Amino acid sequence: MEKKDVIIIGAGLSGLACAHFLRRDRPELSVLVVEKSDHAGGVIRSHAEQGYLCEWGPHGFLDNKEESREILADLHLMDEVQRAPLQDFHRYLCRHGRLIALPQKPQELVTSKLLSTWDKLRLLGDLWRKPLAGHPTIGQWAAYRFGKGVLPLIDAAVTGTFSGDFNRLSMDAVMPGVRRLEMEHGSLLKGLKKKAKGKKDKTLVFLPAMINFGQGLERLVQSMAVGHDIETECVVHGLEKSGDGWQLATSSGTMIANHIICALPMNSALPLLAPFGPPVQKVPESYICNVSLGFADNGAIPKGFGYLAPECENRFVMGCMFTSRMFPGRAPQGKVLLEALVGGRRHPERLELADAEIVRRVVADLKDLLDLPAEPEFVKVLRPKSGIPQMEEDHLDLLAWRAKLEQRNPGLSLCGFGWDGIGINDMTQSAKSAVAAINQAGRVEQRPEVKPVYF
Ligand SMILES: Cc1cc2nc3c(=O)[nH]c(=O)nc-3n(C[C@H](O)[C@H](O)[C@H](O)COP(=O)(O)OP(=O)(O)OC[C@H]3O[C@@H](n4cnc5c(N)ncnc54)[C@H](O)[C@@H]3O)c2cc1C
Repeated sequence: MEKKDVIIIGAGLSGLACAHFLRRDRPELSVLVVEKSDHAGGVIRSHAEQGYLCEWGPHGFLDNKEESREILADLHLMDEVQRAPLQDFHRYLCRHGRLIALPQKPQELVTSKLLSTWDKLRLLGDLWRKPLAGHPTIGQWAAYRFGKGVLPLIDAAVTGTFSGDFNRLSMDAVMPGVRRLEMEHGSLLKGLKKKAKGKKDKTLVFLPAMINFGQGLERLVQSMAVGHDIETECVVHGLEKSGDGWQLATSSGTMIANHIICALPMNSALPLLAPFGPPVQKVPESYICNVSLGFADNGAIPKGFGYLAPECENRFVMGCMFTSRMFPGRAPQGKVLLEALVGGRRHPERLELADAEIVRRVVADLKDLLDLPAEPEFVKVLRPKSGIPQMEEDHLDLLAWRAKLEQRNPGLSLCGFGWDGIGINDMTQSAKSAVAAINQAGRVEQRPEVKPVYF
C-alpha cells in the first residue's frame, strides 16, 4: 500500500481546488483525490438540449474573489469566460405583484420605489443603534438596524444565495465581517464609510461581473480535473489516525496518507468525523429544482439577470434567471432561456409535485409578471440531488468544533460545501486555506471579511 503525502476526499469544486493549489504550490507532494461518483465536479453540471444550455447547480459566480481568479488564470481560462457585469444588467425584485428594478448604486435608492420615504429614513437609524447583542438571525438583525421595511430586500438576497430562510440563518455565521464592522464602529454604515476611505479593496466601489463559460459551468470543473490523480467510484466510509499519518477505509480498500483534506459537503463529512467528537446532527439543507424554459423571444424579457421574489409576495417561483440575456448562446437564435427556481428552505413540499404540475405553476407565475408568449417551446425540469447547507443556529459551534478538531489532529484539514460559506468563491477561498493549513501545520485565523451582498 503506497503512502501518499496527501489524500483529498471528494472531487467536487472544493477537492479540485485543493488539488489545484497543492499541485501549483507544492508540486513535490504526491496527491490522490478519491471520489464517490463516476465523475469529478460534484454538483456543478451543465445540460445541453435542443440548442439550450442550462445548469443543474450553480449558474455562475462573481469575478471578485482572488482565489477563483487565480484558478482561472492558472488554467488559462480567462479568455473563455463569459462576463455579465452587474452595472450593465438590472436585477429585479418582485414587489406587490410586479417587477421593480433594484438600484445599481446606493444613491439610486433615494429615488427607488422599493422603499417608502419612511423606510428610507429608517435606514439611517443604523447610525444611532447600539450593536445588537447575542446571535440574531439575519432577519432579526436587519430589522433592528435598518427597520422592517428593508426585510423584503434582505429576504430576496438570502433567497438568491442560500434559497434559505432569513429567519433561521445566523447573521454571525453568514456575515461575520458585517457583524465585526457593527461591533467595531457601532454602526454598519459608519464602518463601511471608514473602510471605503483608506481603501485598497475596491470591491465595494466597482461592481463585479457574473461569470460563466460558453460550454456551461461544467467547463470549469472539467478543466480543473485535468492531470490530477483522481480515483472515481471510490467511497470513503472510515477515517482514523494511523501512526504519524492517516488511514482511510474505502470501497477500494485501505489507503494511507500523511495528510487528509476532507473536502466534502458538511453532511457527508460529519458521519466520517463522528469518531473524533461529540455527536453532531445533520445540518439543515435547502433543496431546489430548476425549471428551464425556452420561449420565442418577443422582447418581453428585459436585459437583466432576472428577479427574486421575497416570501411575503407568496409566489410559487422563488426567482427566475434571464439566462440567455446574461449569457448569449444559451438559447437558439430568436429564443430566450429562463431558469426558474422552486422549493428552497421554506417550501420543500413543492418538490413533491410531479414535473408537469411544477411546470404548469411556474409558467402561470412567470406569465403573471412577464408578457411571455403562450407556451414554452422547451421545458426541462432539473432536480439536483444535493441540498444547499444552511448556516443556521448551531453553525458557529460547528466551526469552533472544526477548529479544535484540526488543532488536535495535525494533518487533517476540512473544507467543502457549507463550512465557510456556500458559494463557489467561498469554496476556492476555503480550499486555499485548507491547503495552507497543511503547509503551515495549522489553520491561520483570518479576520472575517465584509462580503458585499449582490442580489
Ligand atoms: C442547486 C445549487 C445551486 C447553486 N448555485 C450556485 C450559484 O449560482 N453560484 C455559486 O457560487 N454557488 C452555487 N451553488 C454552490 C456551489 O455549487 C458549491 O459551493 C460547490 O459546488 C460545492 O463544491 P464541493 O466540492 O464543496 O461539494 P460537491 O460539489 O457536493 O462535491 C463533493 C464531492 O464529494 C463526493 N463525495 C461525497 N461523499 C463522499 C465520500 N464518502 N467519499 C468520496 N467522495 C464523496 C461527492 O460525490 C461529490 O463529488 C449551488 C449549489 C447547488 C446545490
